[in-house]
Amino acid sequence: MLRESYCGLCDDCQLGHPEFLKTVRQMQEYLLRFRANWWVHCFPAEEGFDFNEFRKGLEWFLSHTECPGCKGGRGVEICPIRRCAIERGLPQCSHCPDLAACDKFDFLLTEFPDVKTNLRRKQLKLKAREFHQKLQGETT
Ligand code: SF4
Ligand code: SF4
Repeated sequence: MLRESYCGLCDDCQLGHPEFLKTVRQMQEYLLRFRANWWVHCFPAEEGFDFNEFRKGLEWFLSHTECPGCKGGRGVEICPIRRCAIERGLPQCSHCPDLAACDKFDFLLTEFPDVKTNLRRKQLKLKAREFHQKLQGETT
């Protein structure tokens, strides 16, 4: 499934990727084989974790393989990037002339330091393609 977002993050999302799902299933098998549910509680509280929640998380990945992405209706309603791109009528921030100076990405940069660089690269490719098409138009 093709997922798209205004910031570009959904475009590279690995949710539902066959290799990822295979790894999750393998993890479930290992946990069963190791009987992890029998010994995880043996660790002191601060070193342990909620095994049932962990197992629920693995199941969640297997049952949530489909996601339309932020442009398909998911994503956070109050996201400033999403709101701004919609208000400007842009399909993605890579189409925005103010991308380089935009500070709406600050909340993403700790986890996704490359998010703006990737958009900028995409923007340069778009510009190069437009320029190429213009040149072709002029020579035909
Ligand atoms: S809601 Fe905002 S941060 Fe989330 S994918 Fe959409 S644009 Fe990106
Ligand atoms: S100003 Fe441009 S780059 Fe920044 S969030 Fe709005 S559309 Fe995206």
